[in-house]
Amino acid sequence: MAKERIVTRTATPGESAVEGAAATRAVRASDAYIAEIRPKRLQEYIGQKELVERLRIAITAAKKRGDAMEHVLLHGPPGLGKTTIAHVIAEEMGSRAFVTSGPALTKAGDLVGTLTKMHANDVLFIDEIHRLPAAVEEYIYPAMEDRRIDFTLDSGMHAKVVTLNLEPFTMIGATTRAGLLTNALRSRFGIAHHLEFYNEADLQRILQRATGILSMTGVDADALAAIACRSRGTPRIAIRLLRRVRDYAQVMGTGHCTAESVMKALALEGVDALGLDELDRKYLRVIAQTYGGGPVGLEAIAATLADDAATLEDAIEPYLLQLGFLARTRQGRCLTKSACEYLGVEFKSESLLGGS
Ligand code: ADP
Repeated sequence: MAKERIVTRTATPGESAVEGAAATRAVRASDAYIAEIRPKRLQEYIGQKELVERLRIAITAAKKRGDAMEHVLLHGPPGLGKTTIAHVIAEEMGSRAFVTSGPALTKAGDLVGTLTKMHANDVLFIDEIHRLPAAVEEYIYPAMEDRRIDFTLDSGMHAKVVTLNLEPFTMIGATTRAGLLTNALRSRFGIAHHLEFYNEADLQRILQRATGILSMTGVDADALAAIACRSRGTPRIAIRLLRRVRDYAQVMGTGHCTAESVMKALALEGVDALGLDELDRKYLRVIAQTYGGGPVGLEAIAATLADDAATLEDAIEPYLLQLGFLARTRQGRCLTKSACEYLGVEFKSESLLGGS
């Protein structure tokens, strides 16, 4: 059985108590504050204006037709709000969100089990959809397009195809690597959207809202601004830093959060004024010191750092690219002039020219 989290917002009339109990158990205690902080409705969702507008139109149209909403593909770095959007859509549709991930759906039976449990207009959120096994992906096509699943029972001369008709549902796929999706899968999503990093004003609003939910008082506006500019454009990081700042202010100070206490708290966490942490700096230093500023392949950097190439590509590189510290060329990764200035090393322009 796939590892899935069933998150029920409003109990639906047909839902059994067993299902409800399983749902409660399946949500880890540490997720409780995350569930609280997540915006529940579209109008509470901060930033990503274009996406919010596209969703508002699609949801309103679907409700008018009395049908499920279009399937949605969301791509972008982790922590930008893809899971949150899935919950918001379910809430707006008055339905439930079933949460699972590509690697958790190891067998076709896992997917069939989940899809057949769903009621009309429910949302199936598949995180890391690019890691869905090919054997499971085949079952998704007719489910998305024709709302049916053809399941083969037995094999050889006893093989029998059973067709299961599904309730109208919305599939939300999330990925950090849209490029790894097959064309067949990508083309079955009615809406595809790339989530952008948040600007500082939006991050401040997200932090302001979170202080209320976390019952934090005595937080200066410039403290929130100081956290926002160190959050790498990412709400998840902003909220994590806010909690560290809260702990610091409670233990080391009077409980009052000022810009100064933010700087002290985040310096302890190894987060600098640009929001870069020790892993980012190690990554940049490896390119500068071990590979002369680049170009160097990602696998070589990962091997030197004893880290996973996919993690570096998903979690470290997008923000360094956004900052203009990194250039990705055909020959490999290169440091830019601003990255060299940041590290205080000499910039070798020819390394970049070699890659163009
Ligand atoms: P992803 O699925 O893209 O990794 P999540 O949806 O889990 O990201 O979001 C990470 C955290 O950031 C959650 O705690 C969520 O509440 C918060 N968050 C994300 N987007 C927003 C937003 N637009 N407004 C407020 N909080 C947000």
